[in-house]
Amino acid sequence: MKKVLITGANKGIGFETAHYLLQQGFYVFIGSRNIENGEAAVEKLKAEGLHNAEAIQLDVTNAASVLAARATIGKKTERLDVLINNAGINGGLPQSALEATIEQFEKVFDTNLYGVVRVTQAFIDLLRNSEQPRIVNVSSSGSSLTLHSDPSWKYYTHKAALYPSSKAALNMFTIDLAYELRDSQFKVNAVCPGFVATDFNNHRGTGTVQEGASRIAKYAMIGNDGPTGKFFAEEYNPETGETPW
Ligand code: NDP
Repeated sequence: MKKVLITGANKGIGFETAHYLLQQGFYVFIGSRNIENGEAAVEKLKAEGLHNAEAIQLDVTNAASVLAARATIGKKTERLDVLINNAGINGGLPQSALEATIEQFEKVFDTNLYGVVRVTQAFIDLLRNSEQPRIVNVSSSGSSLTLHSDPSWKYYTHKAALYPSSKAALNMFTIDLAYELRDSQFKVNAVCPGFVATDFNNHRGTGTVQEGASRIAKYAMIGNDGPTGKFFAEEYNPETGETPW
């Protein structure tokens, strides 16, 4: 049975990705910074007959928490097949490039970039023991330089200096990580789940968590002939300014 760790899996897109991968036969470690919320998520899954999940306390901004999670999972398995770095924050809006403080930048980067670095480095040895290791970094179309600099894009005018910067940095980290792992079976990709209705955007998203989860799961289960070191943003229709979320 393949094993996956998903950070921030107690709710939203992370939870739905756990739900989907359980249905595909995975064993799922539900990373949750608040263990009670992680356990509640596991109970919800069990109520649907999905029993191969367990909650792991994991705050991606806390190095001790990440190492403790690695120790806990390491006692249960020598192998992790998939790591989904899903935990993320948006830092609140508006995010003026001129007025945002360094502290505000640091807070968003601490979760969206450094969190991914901490977790990836802590679990890389377990991933190396998989025959088909996969890392999926949950990114955002808003971090696409092409979209974010195009005045005809529907979301062009927003003041959002922090969040897209952190995810753009995550995309670059993804490419470098894939490069370092190129002589192996690793597939490492960054993926936008789409504009999905969750707490993250006060449920203003137009897509469903199921749609977001299926995009992430696609790259979690990609074959050995699949891509690595890529960022999959949404396709964009320049005539309407819409991304088909
Ligand atoms: P939610 O706010 O619903 O869920 C975010 C999850 O991340 C929660 O489980 C939250 O935990 C967790 N989290 C936040 N900070 C930490 C931390 N320090 N350590 C561990 N877990 C943490 O958001 P979504 O499900 O919408 O977002 C999931 C991912 O998708 C994010 O990376 C986001 O950037 C990305 N994304 C979302 C889009 C959307 O439209 N929804 C669009 C593009 C990208 P807790 O419950 O404790 O707060």
